[in-house]
Amino acid sequence: MNFHVMTLFPEMVTQGLSDSIIGRAADRGLVSVHAVNIRDYANNRYRQVDDYPYGGGAGMVIQPQPVYDCYQALAKQIGQKTRVIYLTPQGRVFSQKLAEELAKEEDLIFLCGHYEGVDERVLEEIVTDPISIGDYVLTGGELPAMVMIDCISRLVPGVLHNDLSAEFESFQDNLLEYPQYTRPEEFMGKKVPEILLSGHHANIEKWRREQSVIRTARWRPDLLETAELTEQEKKLAAEIRES
Ligand code: SAM
Repeated sequence: MNFHVMTLFPEMVTQGLSDSIIGRAADRGLVSVHAVNIRDYANNRYRQVDDYPYGGGAGMVIQPQPVYDCYQALAKQIGQKTRVIYLTPQGRVFSQKLAEELAKEEDLIFLCGHYEGVDERVLEEIVTDPISIGDYVLTGGELPAMVMIDCISRLVPGVLHNDLSAEFESFQDNLLEYPQYTRPEEFMGKKVPEILLSGHHANIEKWRREQSVIRTARWRPDLLETAELTEQEKKLAAEIRES
């Protein structure tokens, strides 16, 4: 899977994704992160890419021409129709479900805004998916692009050493993951739940599912509205919410 990022800060993106699991996946050729500097497409000798907003107001706006030329160069290089994600607090909010959908693509282009954003005309021309990572405003689209690339990469086959790791996680079935424990068996007087030491897989699965329901009811009850629960699980969730 190839990620192409249009940005004013390419090193921020490549350095931020060069370590750990994503870095190793890139070394193994499972994913690639290609960051392109929009400034390289400025058509003035000062390499300026931003200007004052028409109509007045605070801040600067990224001009349409360098973004469009940058996109054209990338599109030519990729050679096939590619989804173009514009990172914006105004977009559809990113989710695990959307990550699963995007992980099916061969290539994805990300456009990172900065300052007050990007001239609307070029957005209308090239963007297929305006996406936000949450209802708050950041200084640029680089961190949101990195968040998305990290999340999508984990779903690319082979990236996680054990493909099952991505299967039973939070947001699967609209439930949060059950609590996890590792050694030692006792920490600050708290013991690992007995059942996890029993080796009885069916009982462990049952316990984990129940814990997922309890945790979701406590921390993210909104998720339960669309989760598929048995009658018994619905009762358990209701009890937790009441308490
Ligand atoms: N003036 C814009 C507005 O009110 O919608 C906000 C611009 S923000 C300061 C600069 C850039 O950061 C945006 O163009 C976008 O690329 C990025 N950005 C900020 N918050 C974001 C978020 N929650 N999700 C995705 N991108 C975000």
